[in-house]
Amino acid sequence: MEINLISDTVTKPTPEMLKYMMDAHVGDDVFDADPTVKKLQDKLAKMFHKEAALFFPSGTMANQVAIKIHTLPGEQLICDKWAHVYNFEGGGAAFNSGVSCALIDGERGMFTANQVEEKINDPDNIHLAKTSLVTVENTTNKGGGSCWQYVELQKIANVCKSNSLRYHLDGARLFNALVETEETPEQYGKIFDTISICLSKGLGAPIGSVLLGKEEDMVRALKIRKLLGGAMRQVGYLAAAGIYALDHHVLRLKEDHDKAKILANELSSLEYVKSVEPTETNIVIFNLIESIDENVFLNKMKELGVLMISMGQGKLRMVTHLEITNDMIKHVVKALKTFKK
Ligand SMILES: *Cc1c(COP(=O)(O)O)cnc(C)c1O
Repeated sequence: MEINLISDTVTKPTPEMLKYMMDAHVGDDVFDADPTVKKLQDKLAKMFHKEAALFFPSGTMANQVAIKIHTLPGEQLICDKWAHVYNFEGGGAAFNSGVSCALIDGERGMFTANQVEEKINDPDNIHLAKTSLVTVENTTNKGGGSCWQYVELQKIANVCKSNSLRYHLDGARLFNALVETEETPEQYGKIFDTISICLSKGLGAPIGSVLLGKEEDMVRALKIRKLLGGAMRQVGYLAAAGIYALDHHVLRLKEDHDKAKILANELSSLEYVKSVEPTETNIVIFNLIESIDENVFLNKMKELGVLMISMGQGKLRMVTHLEITNDMIKHVVKALKTFKK
């Protein structure tokens, strides 16, 4: 048995999802003629009470286009030091938009409205880059799947408003947060200028992200998506997977969270585990005690059929998803217990 806990992106479409994809009505989306893409975009825009939505091949491209429409070269965005937009998008903010990132020293990928205020440059000081955007991540990836307090996100929205900053949410795993906290999509649509959502993470689609925002912003996003090579033809087959995922795979995310909590609980009882980050959703991050070589541990787990990854700085990560069964969780627990320091 191979149990792949490397990421929630490793899932393959279920037979039901594949059937739904095969049955999709498609057209040339570059000519705005794919009904299934439109259906997906309309569905998400309506759900979040946003004017418009745009389908993307990846979350990275959705975030990068959002940064591009909110900034001009030479300006600066504010994000957490662990943010995906800063760490894991190939330096795209600098490459695509010519902007620098002011990093907040947050807590598990989250920060406060006061910390944002401290990072905003004085617009009248000619020495400083103009601050134009704040981006947050919910749930946080490197922060261990943590969920923000909605009130803090609201406070940051107010700071953005009073300083004329745009506000972007990297919501790659926003549905994990919504399911866990019982908050609503409308609440998020109300405070953010743009929101990116991954369909290919816990939701289980093979490909796809969507960017949500005002009509005028999405018109600009459409143009930039085209120039990045992200305009696609009969892409309704992929959009169909997203529609299926939204209809069938949202509420079940809670099961992934429950399984992750079982793993976190088990890890915290093991002598060779130094610490386990609080596990709120489907990501479990933990550190081994110093005397254990991370690679020795990872290889041993691999031998036992359990795959996970290192996030750097001694952090190891397991992510639960829709292919992980209760029996697999039992097997992982057994494998973890087998390892001797
Ligand atoms: C996965 C992820 C993205 C987008 O990644 P792609 O692989 O480009 O789809 C963006 N932000 C966060 C927090 C992510 O976890």
